[in-house]
Amino acid sequence: MHLSIIVPFYNEEAGISSFFERLIPVLNSCTDSFKVICVDDGSTDNSFAALNKAKDTYGQLKLIRLSRNFGKEAALTAGLDHSEGRAVVMMDADLQHPPEVITEFLKEYKNGVDVVYGVRRSRQTDGAIRAFLARSFYNVFSSMGDVKISPDAGDFRFMSARAVAALQSLPERRRFMKGLYAWIGFSQKAVEYDVAERSNGQSRWSLAKLFSYAWGGILSFSTVPLKLWSVLGAALAALSGGYALYILIDTLANGRTTPGYATLATAIFFLGGVQLLSVGILGEYIARIFEETKARPTYIVEDIRDEDSHDEDMA
Ligand code: UDP
Ligand code: MG
Repeated sequence: MHLSIIVPFYNEEAGISSFFERLIPVLNSCTDSFKVICVDDGSTDNSFAALNKAKDTYGQLKLIRLSRNFGKEAALTAGLDHSEGRAVVMMDADLQHPPEVITEFLKEYKNGVDVVYGVRRSRQTDGAIRAFLARSFYNVFSSMGDVKISPDAGDFRFMSARAVAALQSLPERRRFMKGLYAWIGFSQKAVEYDVAERSNGQSRWSLAKLFSYAWGGILSFSTVPLKLWSVLGAALAALSGGYALYILIDTLANGRTTPGYATLATAIFFLGGVQLLSVGILGEYIARIFEETKARPTYIVEDIRDEDSHDEDMA
């Protein structure tokens, strides 16, 4: 079987040679034919030069350089688009995903599983707050949409050719991959692995980036935030009806008392806030519709190097 390994690189210069030193022997031992599709996601260091050097050492590399940093999801999509309809493995370039696990992925595939995903045995490499936030996000996500995603599963996974074809057939440009993997269905199986520390450098994910990623995921897969407001609106309307009734009875029973500024002010601010929030949520979905209708490509390729000649693909 021919296997394509898709690896996104963003400023990974320092780790590139050790990455291939560990990956290539594993691949040689578990498959007879493979290609490593390296997507340079607009690195600002010398990652692309380092990848070219690695390509001179190991022939089975295909290099794709994107014209700027499009983000990991776009880089993975670029890799999938260049996987030539083969079964793929996706993994990070920082050796947090141990290459040895690929052997186990392939074993499951031989048993007839279409999608084999790596599940981290622990989140020790993450801080306590991060692990807690991540877990909360997956719970919220799974309760809101109709696809369930596993908290500890990430992009480290194997997909058969037909699962890849299914993923490729989804036309949306904003690609929340974790949701899409689950959405396509097929027989899926988890394989546990231990996350290693990053081989060098730092994670590119700040807490703020993670928040926007999580929020983006929910917006892509759920319309609950849109519908929530009608429920809340109805509840508030019912409450204010009850309150009006209370005021009426109170006035009838006790006569006109001093009017309550506090109640009025609170009600105005509260309702104003709720209205702004719901308009904001509408805006977020409209922004998405706007983005999808612009139909821009997910990424732009600047350069491809596949076979041995350097210039044949430059045109
Ligand atoms: N990555 C990428 N584009 C980006 C950010 C990251 O292609 O804009 C790649 C990065 O080079 C690595 C993988 O995505 O191979 C995971 O990134 P990172 O280790 O920073 O994330 P974490 O492991 O913390 O999830
Ligand atoms: Mg990492």
